[in-house]
Amino acid sequence: MPPEAARWRRFSDVFSTVVETAGYSCIIPPMFEDIGVFRRLGEATDVVTKEMYDFEDKGGRHVALRPEQTASVCRAFAQHRPPTPWKVWYSGPNFRYEKAQAGRYRQFDQVGIEVLGTDDPDIDVEVIFLGWDFYRRLGLSNVTLMLNSLGDTDDRQRYVDALATHFNDQKTTLSEEAQRTLEKNPLRVLDSKREQDKAAIDGAPLLKDFLGDDARVHFERVCEGLRELEVPFVVNDRLVRGLDYYRRTTFEFVSTALESSQNAVGGGGRYDGLVEELGGPPTHGIGFALGVDRTLLACDAEGVFGSSSDSVDVFVVDVVDGRHARGLSHDLRRHGFSADRAFDGRSMKSQMKAADRSGAKVAVIVGQDEVSAGTCVVRRLDSSDQVVIPRADLVDYLGSIGLKPSTETA
Ligand code: AMP
Repeated sequence: MPPEAARWRRFSDVFSTVVETAGYSCIIPPMFEDIGVFRRLGEATDVVTKEMYDFEDKGGRHVALRPEQTASVCRAFAQHRPPTPWKVWYSGPNFRYEKAQAGRYRQFDQVGIEVLGTDDPDIDVEVIFLGWDFYRRLGLSNVTLMLNSLGDTDDRQRYVDALATHFNDQKTTLSEEAQRTLEKNPLRVLDSKREQDKAAIDGAPLLKDFLGDDARVHFERVCEGLRELEVPFVVNDRLVRGLDYYRRTTFEFVSTALESSQNAVGGGGRYDGLVEELGGPPTHGIGFALGVDRTLLACDAEGVFGSSSDSVDVFVVDVVDGRHARGLSHDLRRHGFSADRAFDGRSMKSQMKAADRSGAKVAVIVGQDEVSAGTCVVRRLDSSDQVVIPRADLVDYLGSIGLKPSTETA
């Protein structure tokens, strides 16, 4: 609803400004795809197994509403093979059948970027910096960047094996949910927030002890770059991301202004294999998705990036027959002022009420006397001061009292 909806748009505008200055182009992935596209995200992920809105369409195709947008970006890359590195940004809603609660919804918006086709650690630095910089531009100061490396595929596999052994040894101490997760994906057990699982998680092997040389060098270079750009971060050994394809750099932005169960405002990392799975060549990828709804909750908690009003500059009041309001508001809009008016032949009183409600700075009032004299009354709505000016001078006059046309479309 307005005015909140305008805030959503402004959010996306700030985001696009930040990422477009770094060479990212806008991509608009479809709202739904063949379900196979999303299944490639990994059969062990809740997003895929439990939370997809999938259905058969009238042509008998099994499709799903997008639960996220990385898979669609990779599908588009595999299909169209653009030159690399391919740097894109997106913004829009996703759908997940989750247990709805504050900060967790079944339709929620994300903004994000993806870079396909380079393994250079400096792109990791760029991607992470852009997320960080965006939060800063919104005015948020209580966002912590958590960073980790999941290693290369072999490192990760050795780690997963070690974790599986560790958690299987402790299986009887784990919650039922964690036991089920263990069978599907031992890494995800580390995500459990249940008190019962804490001891087993605390004693689990650490990922950093399994990193091979290549992954270690890559991670060190990422850390070095972030330090150079003065992005503070915390290395969090327990940070694993849900998708099966994540490797090397993973990160999450956490708002300390939000309750801990829903405090992740965004996250991302490197992934390989997704483009290949979707029919393209082997391609490195990295990106992030930031939750718009949740980031706005963090903004509220910090008292920054509030709703701005949707008010117009001028409200035209016509107490003759509405034709003057039609002509004047059209003329003002052509000159770049935002202008609104009343309809349905309302009384002067009712039109002035509407003018106040509109938040306009001035009302331009036309009655029979003004029409005969070729003038109009300009009334400041904050002070009720008013002047009579020739209608031909209206645009210049509004400019002279500080109302600036936003766009000159005349
Ligand atoms: P993910 O795509 O799961 O990595 O999530 C990235 C970000 O999107 C999270 O950090 C949240 O801020 C946001 N997010 C994910 N799921 C939801 C949801 N159901 N409702 C609101 N925000 C969400």
